[in-house]
Amino acid sequence: MSASLYCVATPIGNLTDITERAIKTLKEVEKIYAEDTRVTLRLLTHLGFQKQLVSLHDHNEATRVTQVLADLEQGMNVALVSDAGTPLISDPGYHLVKEVAKAGFRVVPIPGACAVVAALSAAGLATDRFVFEGFLAAKSSARKASFEQLKAETRTLIFYESSHRIEGFLEDLVAVLGAERELVIARELTKLYESFYRDTAQSLLTRLGMDSDMQKGEFVVLVKGSNDVVEQGSVAVETVLQVLLEEEISVNQAARIAARITGQAKNKLYRQAIEMSKLLN
Ligand code: SAM
Repeated sequence: MSASLYCVATPIGNLTDITERAIKTLKEVEKIYAEDTRVTLRLLTHLGFQKQLVSLHDHNEATRVTQVLADLEQGMNVALVSDAGTPLISDPGYHLVKEVAKAGFRVVPIPGACAVVAALSAAGLATDRFVFEGFLAAKSSARKASFEQLKAETRTLIFYESSHRIEGFLEDLVAVLGAERELVIARELTKLYESFYRDTAQSLLTRLGMDSDMQKGEFVVLVKGSNDVVEQGSVAVETVLQVLLEEEISVNQAARIAARITGQAKNKLYRQAIEMSKLLN
């Protein structure tokens, strides 16, 4: 190994979800920078070896960057791990990786468990395109504002959430994205009580309110993308027609051009254009 920083994924629950390469890397590096050294110590104890552990979390990352760069300059190989899953994914390490790469050292991913990917692989929602939003704000108003921005998003939406916020999160989701939006809640992935709940947003909120067990543990919430094509399309059509009519193009021509732009039937657009032209005149 030439002086490198290894970003090593660790299990998200089931301790056997760690790759041979991850174990080999953790054994071979000189130091492990860990989000919480106590958590990593337990993992290493389970794996049967020990290693120098140094904390690297949100509150000391800036100082640790200097230390890691000094280690690498001395030719050391070091690893970065978080408490669970893939480092940097809703976990510390972004500034470190950015600076280490900028300084010209190798940054090597050692892939493995990651809750967002695990949830997506078994949810049964579209996987070809998705948007990972991580944790939304804790405050309801800010959370609702985020949902507003995502309302028309057609790709699958994925969020992380904790047990004490899951109910409020779902309430805001229902309020903004609607009661009928389809969801999958992936709870306690790879653990004893792993569960997938697939239903509409309101049904899952109601179930969660009645079942305290369902509120326990760690959550990935996956939301079916908006398929409100008709509504979105009709808004766009209106805008197109309005612009054309304002330019004093004839109703017939406006309907023809709008049909070409939007792909909708000319006859329908013609009738719509007549109604709109009455309002404009
Ligand atoms: N770095 C991690 C990863 O690769 O997924 C994520 C760390 S983030 C601080 C922790 C959040 O990830 C949890 O609150 C939960 O939303 C999600 N998560 C982690 N492990 C999970 C699990 N076993 N089941 C469901 N969600 C999990």
